[in-house]
Amino acid sequence: MSSTPYTRFQTTLHSVLSKIDFEHGSNTLFDNPQHIHKKEITIHGDDGKPKTMNAFRVQFNNARGPYKGGIRFHQEADEDEVKALAALMAIKTAVVNIPFGGAKGGVQVNPKELTKGEVQKVAREYVRAFQENLGADIDCPAPDVNTNPDIMAWMRDEYETLTRSYSPAMITGKPLSFGGSLGRDSATARGGFFILQEMVDRLALDPSDMRVAIQGFGNAGAHMAKFLHNAGYIVVAVSDSQGGIYSPEGIDPVRIAKYKEKTGSVTGEYCEGSVCDISRMNMDSVEQVTNEQLLEIDCDILIPAALDNVITADNADRIKAQYILELANGPTTPEADVILDKKGKRIIPDVLANAGGVTVSYFEWSQGRSGEQWTEDIVDDRLKKVMLDAYKSVRRESRRENLTYREAAFAVGIKRMFDAMTVRGWL
Ligand code: GLU
Repeated sequence: MSSTPYTRFQTTLHSVLSKIDFEHGSNTLFDNPQHIHKKEITIHGDDGKPKTMNAFRVQFNNARGPYKGGIRFHQEADEDEVKALAALMAIKTAVVNIPFGGAKGGVQVNPKELTKGEVQKVAREYVRAFQENLGADIDCPAPDVNTNPDIMAWMRDEYETLTRSYSPAMITGKPLSFGGSLGRDSATARGGFFILQEMVDRLALDPSDMRVAIQGFGNAGAHMAKFLHNAGYIVVAVSDSQGGIYSPEGIDPVRIAKYKEKTGSVTGEYCEGSVCDISRMNMDSVEQVTNEQLLEIDCDILIPAALDNVITADNADRIKAQYILELANGPTTPEADVILDKKGKRIIPDVLANAGGVTVSYFEWSQGRSGEQWTEDIVDDRLKKVMLDAYKSVRRESRRENLTYREAAFAVGIKRMFDAMTVRGWL
């Protein structure tokens, strides 16, 4: 039987539970979401015709606080995937020790085929469908794949209209002009960067010797490329859903970001159509690569920052990078984990590496509730502290129990969830 996102989550979960000798009778509360909400939502398209799509909100666990997690708009977002992502959120909020549980939402639609007006209708319909189950103290969504601050603003507005309330803390990742927090936009990458930098420092490595390949040039990947470039790392490859580019001498991510804004793709910067137009760049070392090739590039650090299930038993053996920092959720399968571990590769897992996003969401939620506005420096300092504390807990657990960083992060998260569930008398 082929694996699914949720069976992959369970494989990791059970392997960790058995390794840490978890001594309580029932694992069912870690194994199953508390609630799965699903509805069909219908919007009227610009052509006047109705468009119907599946929408989900999976609430995995709220022992440690309100459910928390993004909403993705993606043609492949189905119940199983959203369930797995909700479970990862529960572990993630526990790893960084912020007072939330875990949830995730999804709408099964390709937003690239919708107009802006249609996307707004999907956002508002989503809130109408799940309004009863949302709220600052209940379940607080945020952006995820293909969703952004504008969508969060429409969702907040719809919620406040329906509930006749002022509820800035019911959703995070909002625009700065509508209750957002400074630093939220780049937080996922910033958090990952803090951890990577700490690891590089501890290993006494020199950033200017470190070649990095980044798969995905969305919110997480593009910001990460910029942070690394500015800190002296050599970003040798980047890609988006259209494909990627590779230059052993390094790529300037700021230039790529500008180009992508103009054309909608990163490959155009150095390449026209499918043929790389190197003469335009006067650089004979730039090549076009596919997303699959990018993962196998000769580099030191690989950063999957797009979708799940990209490093699998089929290609794990060919990954050359020594360090893998998972900015995407679920990019590596459990089989690939085993192969990479045997080869001595170090993976900083998603539930730690990309937790900067939800951490600054917590800061935004706090500001929404208190009416305060924090400066970017305060956000940055607090984010750094949360990320480095979490990294330390994971390292310590890994050493103590002889676990990989993924296993150790799961162990830290599970134990914290377990404590809260015990207090509540759920176990
Ligand atoms: N979607 C992001 C994640 O997967 C952020 C979630 C949030 O801020 O609630 O971690």
